[in-house]
Amino acid sequence: MLNGTTAEIKPRTALRINPAKTCQPIGAMYAALGIHRCMPHSHGSQGCCAYHRSHLTRHYKDPVMATTSSFTEGSSVFGGLSNLTQALKNIFTIYQPDIVAVHTTCLSEVIGDDIPMMIKKATEDNTIPAGKHVIHTNTPSFVGSHVTGYSNMVRSIIKYLAQSSGGTRDQLNVIPGFVDPADMREIKRLCAMMGVNIVMLPDTSGVLDTPQDGHYQMYPKGGTTIEQIKGMGDSIATLALGHFGAHPAAAELEAKCNVPAGFLELPIGLTCTDKFIDALRQYGSTDVPESIEEERGRLVDLMSDLHQYFYRKRVAIAGDPDHLISMVQFLVELDMQPAYVITGTPGQHFERRIKDLLKEHAPNAVVKQNTDLFELHQLMKQEPVDLLIANTYGKYIARAENVPFVRLGFPILDRTGHRLFPAVGYTGAMRYIEKINDALLDQKDRECEEEWFELVQ
Ligand code: SF4
Repeated sequence: MLNGTTAEIKPRTALRINPAKTCQPIGAMYAALGIHRCMPHSHGSQGCCAYHRSHLTRHYKDPVMATTSSFTEGSSVFGGLSNLTQALKNIFTIYQPDIVAVHTTCLSEVIGDDIPMMIKKATEDNTIPAGKHVIHTNTPSFVGSHVTGYSNMVRSIIKYLAQSSGGTRDQLNVIPGFVDPADMREIKRLCAMMGVNIVMLPDTSGVLDTPQDGHYQMYPKGGTTIEQIKGMGDSIATLALGHFGAHPAAAELEAKCNVPAGFLELPIGLTCTDKFIDALRQYGSTDVPESIEEERGRLVDLMSDLHQYFYRKRVAIAGDPDHLISMVQFLVELDMQPAYVITGTPGQHFERRIKDLLKEHAPNAVVKQNTDLFELHQLMKQEPVDLLIANTYGKYIARAENVPFVRLGFPILDRTGHRLFPAVGYTGAMRYIEKINDALLDQKDRECEEEWFELVQ
């Protein structure tokens, strides 16, 4: 009430409070790390690069290497050509990568730096040594999110490097969305169990989950090699896992090299993993081995064993769109009740797909793209939920509302398991069942303890 009248509350349109996303270059930097012997390069000021590296390092608990054009006031006025040229000279001399993957920052985008022209010039004046590669993608952070940046970089890798020789290789391309190294490792494990020969791009397993051997490796063993990426243009087909993170790259490869694209969702939960396995079966002309059927059977057994704990529990979930599209399907499979589903990444497909998934099971669910965690918190205050699933930043909401909390997605800064244990596949689904069940039962235990404490007072 304002002066005795009801004040009109207008919905926020521009301002974001606690965004459910981070900036584009983080995704581009992460994707570039999935190429073997690649140095990600941030074309902008040092602060951007320092933030992106530290955010990735805090999530993956491994050192993240990247270089920067180190813009100053002069570059902001005259453009970043001389900075990038000098940077490339230094990088190839000092760090000796096979490839440099340049992404832009807000500042260079606002200036309007022409990166392809700069790369062309660097090639012509031999700043780029023979046999080495420099690629780029544009990642203006005032649009999209880290998922957009990831998707842009993967698409650019294909655009620059994939080639068609006219022949066909007996291999399948797999392009995962923005998932952790453990997820990439799990996807490769499932493909190997199916007996399907794949090239995965990007592949950060073996890069950001390296074993401790006492020696620092600037370029660890993992990552997709340049030769493998070139050969992707001759593959039988591409499986792209995630509308936002992976589909654009597969579409690019189809347009460039005529490699048929299969568009799937991230293999999180029962149905989405089933679809992935079935696609491998069809494209790989193979049968599903008993070992995979047994894994699936164990998941189904666990789902039915614990059904009574999940039934009709209201869930709020926030995160990256590809994760949420698959995780919401899994929650429905568990007979849970998604009540609020929000992402900070813009894209109408998200709302359409989630509403379609929930139209019978939870038709009143609030589904929003391009929004923030503040709005999610307000929704939870109006009508509470039994569980919150989100990245690390969700914990403050969970604490304030005394709601059980499960971490999912990026970033997770205050826990470690995500780097080593997958969210994808039947194994990942079992892991998340355990997490959800533990969170719900821990809350129940706390409530029982409080009741008992009150009784004995
Ligand atoms: S200026 Fe742009 S690119 Fe740099 S940290 Fe901020 S949002 Fe990200």
